Amino acid sequence: MYKIAILGYPIKHSLSPKIHNYWLKKMNINGKYSAIKTPIKNLEKTIKNLSKKGYKGLNLTIPLKEEALKYINKKNKIVDIIGAANVLIFSKKGYIEGKNTDVYGFKKSILDLVKNKRKELAIVIGSGGAARAIVYVLIQMKYKKIIIYNRTKKNAEIIKKDLLKKHSKNLPTKINCENLKKIKNNIKKTNLLINTTPMGMKNFPNLNINIKDLKLDAAVFDLIYNPLETKLIKESNKRGIKNTNGLDMLIYQAQKSFYYWLNKTPKITEKLKKILKKDIK
Ligand code: NAP
Repeated sequence: MYKIAILGYPIKHSLSPKIHNYWLKKMNINGKYSAIKTPIKNLEKTIKNLSKKGYKGLNLTIPLKEEALKYINKKNKIVDIIGAANVLIFSKKGYIEGKNTDVYGFKKSILDLVKNKRKELAIVIGSGGAARAIVYVLIQMKYKKIIIYNRTKKNAEIIKKDLLKKHSKNLPTKINCENLKKIKNNIKKTNLLINTTPMGMKNFPNLNINIKDLKLDAAVFDLIYNPLETKLIKESNKRGIKNTNGLDMLIYQAQKSFYYWLNKTPKITEKLKKILKKDIK
């Protein structure tokens, strides 16, 4: 039987076991995907333990994606540039490979949201593992300017430094870093606003920003999917601003993770989405 798991802290509300167990069953694959609560201090021990027990691999979520880099033997170019891995693949010999499927998930799920929209300025809120993947994709999408707003400005600056180090010197995208408290200054100019913090998630306070000055033709992406409608999404809807939550991103990143472990691409269906949405409610 194939054994796969997601590690994170907290982990109780993760939808990943639902998605992967649904696919395993649908595709008649004998396997089980479980969720294991793992504080950062236990990460190394848990990875080694599960690898020894014959697990195929793991997903990693908040706050483990960056820490995991210390324990992998091989990383692909994207993991190296971003500095965060959300997928680990175990080989029989105890060799651990790190991948990042948040990049793929975000790339696929933002396409429709920003279709035919201007790409002058994107605002990214947060500076964790997810923000790294998002800024990387926005650079690829050729946004002229990205401002990373974070509670701790220093962490935003670290992302900028890491990404610039790995890109060529003549990056066409300008990246600025600011304290989250200053977000009001640029909200009116932005074409795209992305929340990559856990603020607004179930059991977390809401993100404390005011989007009344956001342009009507701007777009909002909230990486959160539980609840399906955060305060940010609700306010965007109220103002008629095009938006998306993090559910599609989650499913796309899961699809790619599944492929990496089992070499098969599961189908994303309306039925699966319906099951997940019901679970969230
Ligand atoms: P992370 O590495 O722990 O980073 C969290 C970020 O949020 C940090 O920049 C942190 O700021 C900021 N933050 C935390 N608490 C805050 C607060 N009270 N006020 C303001 N900022 C705060 O987490 P992550 O892995 O990047 O994930 C972030 C979120 O994205 C999670 O909710 C996760 O579920 C979601 N996510 C969704 C998907 C998807 O597929 N939809 C994929 C990946 C992640 P500091 O730097 O100041 O600590």
